[in-house]
Amino acid sequence: MPGHKGFVLWFTGLSGAGKSTLANKLVAEFQTRGYNVELLDGDEVRTNLSKGLGFSKEDRDTNIRRIGWVARVLARNGVIAITAAISPYAEIRNEIRADVEKEGRAAFVEAFACAPLEALIERDVKGLYKKALAGEIANFTGVSDPYEAPEKPEFVAYTSEETVEQSAERLLAYLQEQGLIFQETA
Ligand code: ADP
Repeated sequence: MPGHKGFVLWFTGLSGAGKSTLANKLVAEFQTRGYNVELLDGDEVRTNLSKGLGFSKEDRDTNIRRIGWVARVLARNGVIAITAAISPYAEIRNEIRADVEKEGRAAFVEAFACAPLEALIERDVKGLYKKALAGEIANFTGVSDPYEAPEKPEFVAYTSEETVEQSAERLLAYLQEQGLIFQETA
């Protein structure tokens, strides 16, 4: 399909920060345009590709490396591979970025879904923060487990300050600017 290159669009951010929402919005947009796109959603991957893995550092790293591997092989074959997993450790995200960039066949775009923890606790879309704060969920990212924000993400969505549409529009504009997707002709 002419019009786009394969690339990895890697969302990272705390639970409820907006990764899946933005990822799904972009998938829908790309499908409408006839692009080759695949979504690797963190919650979904944990029920199949990473079934059985838990939330220790080791298991989290394994889960993210698997997602990274699949995303990389898809992207090098011209697919827009979108991932939406918390991916809390900078080292692992950077390792995946390095693998993708070393191959030189696809770009790696890190998109940080950024919102203050207080806003996420208040929003609590999945009711998980309430449970985590009550000590009912162990190793919960942002509450009882670390989250390392990216230092130099290609894109930041300020999801407690802008609407889903605004974040998505800005992200599409960025991808267009980078020549990763073509401008839509109206
Ligand atoms: P995550 O995948 O990061 O766990 P979700 O996408 O499941 O998060 O939930 C994010 C919530 O935040 C949704 O209810 C969504 O409608 C809301 N939201 C508000 N503004 C934004 C925005 N700019 N981008 C993404 N989500 C947003």
